[in-house]
Amino acid sequence: MTTRRILALQDVVNRVPVENDKPNQQVSQYYGSDVFGMDAMREFLSEEAFESIQQSMNQGTIVERKMADQVAACMKAWAQSKGVTHFTHWFQPLSGATAEKHDGFFEPIEGGRAIERFSGNALVQQEPDASSFPNGGIRNTFEARGYTAWDPTSPAFIWGETLCIPTIFISYTGESLDFKTPLLKSLHALDKAATDVCQYFDKNVTKVIATLGWEQEYFLIDSALYNIRYDLQQTGRTLFGHAPAKGQQLEDHYWGSIPERVAAYMRDFEYESHLLGIPVRTRHNEVAPAQFECAPVFEETNLAVDHNLLLMDIMEKVAIRHNFRVLLHEKPYAGVNGSGKHNNWSLATNTGKNLLSPGKTPKTNLQFLTFFVNTVMAVYEHADLLRASIASANNDHRLGANEAPPAIMSVFLGQQLSKVLDELEKAVHSGKMSPEEKTALKMNIGRIPDILLDNTDRNRTSPFAFTGNKFEFRAVGSSANCGGPMTVLNSIVAEQLVSFKKEVDSLMNNKVEKDEAIFQILKKYIIASKKIRFEGNGYGDEWKVEAKKRGLSNISTTPGALEAMISKKSLAMFESQGILNHREQEARYEISLETYTKKIQIESRIMVDMVNNQIIPAAYAYQKNLVDNVRGMKDILTDEEFKKVASTQLELIKEISERVTLLKTEGDLMTEERKKANTLDSGKKQAHAYCEKVKPYFESMRYNVDKLEGIVDDATWPLPKYREMLYLR
Ligand code: ADP
Ligand code: MG
Repeated sequence: MTTRRILALQDVVNRVPVENDKPNQQVSQYYGSDVFGMDAMREFLSEEAFESIQQSMNQGTIVERKMADQVAACMKAWAQSKGVTHFTHWFQPLSGATAEKHDGFFEPIEGGRAIERFSGNALVQQEPDASSFPNGGIRNTFEARGYTAWDPTSPAFIWGETLCIPTIFISYTGESLDFKTPLLKSLHALDKAATDVCQYFDKNVTKVIATLGWEQEYFLIDSALYNIRYDLQQTGRTLFGHAPAKGQQLEDHYWGSIPERVAAYMRDFEYESHLLGIPVRTRHNEVAPAQFECAPVFEETNLAVDHNLLLMDIMEKVAIRHNFRVLLHEKPYAGVNGSGKHNNWSLATNTGKNLLSPGKTPKTNLQFLTFFVNTVMAVYEHADLLRASIASANNDHRLGANEAPPAIMSVFLGQQLSKVLDELEKAVHSGKMSPEEKTALKMNIGRIPDILLDNTDRNRTSPFAFTGNKFEFRAVGSSANCGGPMTVLNSIVAEQLVSFKKEVDSLMNNKVEKDEAIFQILKKYIIASKKIRFEGNGYGDEWKVEAKKRGLSNISTTPGALEAMISKKSLAMFESQGILNHREQEARYEISLETYTKKIQIESRIMVDMVNNQIIPAAYAYQKNLVDNVRGMKDILTDEEFKKVASTQLELIKEISERVTLLKTEGDLMTEERKKANTLDSGKKQAHAYCEKVKPYFESMRYNVDKLEGIVDDATWPLPKYREMLYLR
């Protein structure tokens, strides 16, 4: 009998690149044409409506109902001119995926006819019956209404035949139930705090935005192989699979020549992205075989997050056209690198300045140092919360596995800036500075070169690294919604800048001169936050020892890491910045625990299914061959000859039996642990039980399956192997 795997491999051999029908044009000619952006607005809106929507986009003001009617009518006209028939509010519930429910524009009228209509009400607000989205106990089912509300700061776009309107999602009682609402609040808090601090340096600054440029890593696999790997389908990762002889050890894949089939796929999803105004610009092979990366030009954070979510969706849909499946899981394959999503983050002013880019003069450099040091201080103060913001069952496989930043939070500054901070620390004392000291100081910070970009050393092992004109949060997982970690980062920096301003103002009220007051507080922060700075190898074991000595946390599992979400300090921080109240944050914590538990539960179930339905039968089928063969030999050979040649086969027969027995026993024991865990009375206890009692079986079961893969006849083995899945032509 031919296994499904062999049939699938035949499909793979016959694949050819699939070209799209992309017009033969430069990107600039079609870029953003499926977005209701500036051009479309100018063309379709009255001047009054255009002004009003511009204002709400720039200042976050509410669009008046009358205007909303006008905008909706114009959006509809624009969308219809492009063949659109439906609309949806597009939002980001805490399940992690984006949500959409498409409604037709048409409305039946008398006489059995219909008209197309899209009212301001439908644009501004919808009331989805959203009782099935995770809410962490915020809504009881009897008051299950939530509503979605238009976010005019992220433009509407067309996907397929549907007009998509980015919205927030909140409960009827006003609590946020999504990623976007707290992100917008955090951006607002950060804007306010940073703009206030900018006043020390430049009165023209009236707005500060956080910028985000993400780098999305992903794997591709042929869909024929994906379709028969139930673990990949249901959990996003391979629960079994013997490492290939050739993995990434030759380092020949990174930045290597892109296979033609893959290049065709990249062209296609980039084209779709560009129609939607997603500025994807970079593409290359990543470290592991069959792993790739794409990155856009950075944007305002809210838009960048929407664009990343949209891109992930586009990548999945376009992959299918190319007979690929895209794997966004943090660790689809054991033994080769997993995938992350670096979040490059910075602050930009309305005056066109990047606040994390040093300037040409001591004055602008003092402004740079202020934002730089405050960010380091914020990370120091809330390292555990940042760690929690990237915690997930998937990312646990990556963090600290010598391929991704460790679970210990630290900040990398580079040699040059470390030196500057060290000098500042020595230079300023708390008393009054002499004019010479002031000059010396200014000289010192004047020496920071205005182009650090090419001078900063790159440290690939740090979870949070300064890279010349931005910080790079490198521990974010590839499937994550960047909104989670970005909300935390914005909020903690906002809180930090508020305290900084308070402290500087209080010194200034005591007649300390402005620059000196700033120096003194910065110095205090430099000393206080020193522990979080680390310039060495984050993958090394020495760092674990050193970090422990410094008292830094090293929390390797999600249930442990999530605790920081509800620490007094975190709750107070979110509340003081007006981002999330106690109830909202506690709900998020419950949801994160629950998601973790469910993921491990699904993995555990599919593992037992595959072992019982696929692995054990294959092992027995091969064992039967061996047994038949041994019997046959016995018939035709003399006893003496038989003894000589049969021992290898007898041993194989025995090994198969032993491994199958182990698998069966462990599967049963694991199922028992699951049952016990399910009866526990809190989300926290359940998550810990799944982590500490259920999950440990994964490794030993995998070990026995992978050993069986190594001895069972290749033609009989039911699962696509690593050596097949990881190589793309
Ligand atoms: P590397 O791999 O060396 O980190 P990449 O070119 O892959 O570099 O990625 C750099 C990322 O940083 C891009 O997404 C880019 O848009 C982003 N970026 C550059 N400047 C800023 C900035 N000021 N704010 C936010 N992101 C930025
Ligand atoms: Mg990077």
